[in-house]
Amino acid sequence: MRDLDEIVRMALEAGFSLAAPLDLATIKLYPEVREMCASDKCRAYDRNWTCPPACGTLEECSERIRKYNRGIIVQTLGELEDDFDFEGMAELAKKHNEKFYAFHDVLHGIFSDVLALGAGGCSRCDSCTYPDMPCRFPHLALSSMEAYGMIVNEVCTLNGVPYYHGPGKIAYIGCYLFD
Ligand code: SF4
Repeated sequence: MRDLDEIVRMALEAGFSLAAPLDLATIKLYPEVREMCASDKCRAYDRNWTCPPACGTLEECSERIRKYNRGIIVQTLGELEDDFDFEGMAELAKKHNEKFYAFHDVLHGIFSDVLALGAGGCSRCDSCTYPDMPCRFPHLALSSMEAYGMIVNEVCTLNGVPYYHGPGKIAYIGCYLFD
C-alpha cells in the first residue's frame, strides 16, 4: 500500500500548488449545496452524467464516498488582475483541470478504484453523451465536490488547508479518494 505522504508528494510533483491529506471523516454533504446546483449558474445542471441529478442522490454519493478510506486535497493557486478578470479565472481553471485529469490517470495506475471530485462537471469528452447514451468512460468520469454536496471551504478548513489565499488570489480545488 502506498504511503499517503508519498501520494501527496507525487501530487506536488505533478504541479499542484498545494496538496494535503484529506480525513474522510470530515466530509459532510449538504442538500443546500445541491439546491445551488439546481439553480444552474454553472450551466451544467442536468447536462452531464457527473452533475446532478444524474450523479445520484446525496445518499448514493455518501455511499460511494464510504467505499474509500483515504484521500488528498489538491489546489492550484493563481493571481487575478481584479475581481472581473474572467479570462484569468478561465485560464487557471483550464490549467487546474489538465493537472487534475492527468493526476487522476496516474492514481488509476496505482489504485484499483479512485473517486476524483474536482471543480466543475466532467469534461473528458468534447461533448457529454448525457442523456442519450451511456457515459463513454464511467471509470474516468469526474464529478465535482459541489455535485457531491460538499462545502469546499469547510472541507479545506477541517483539514487544515487554506481556502482563502488573500486579495487578488484564487484557488481551484479538488480531492481524490482511494484505499
Ligand atoms: S466521460 Fe464523457 S460521457 Fe462520461 S461524463 Fe465525462 S464527458 Fe460525459
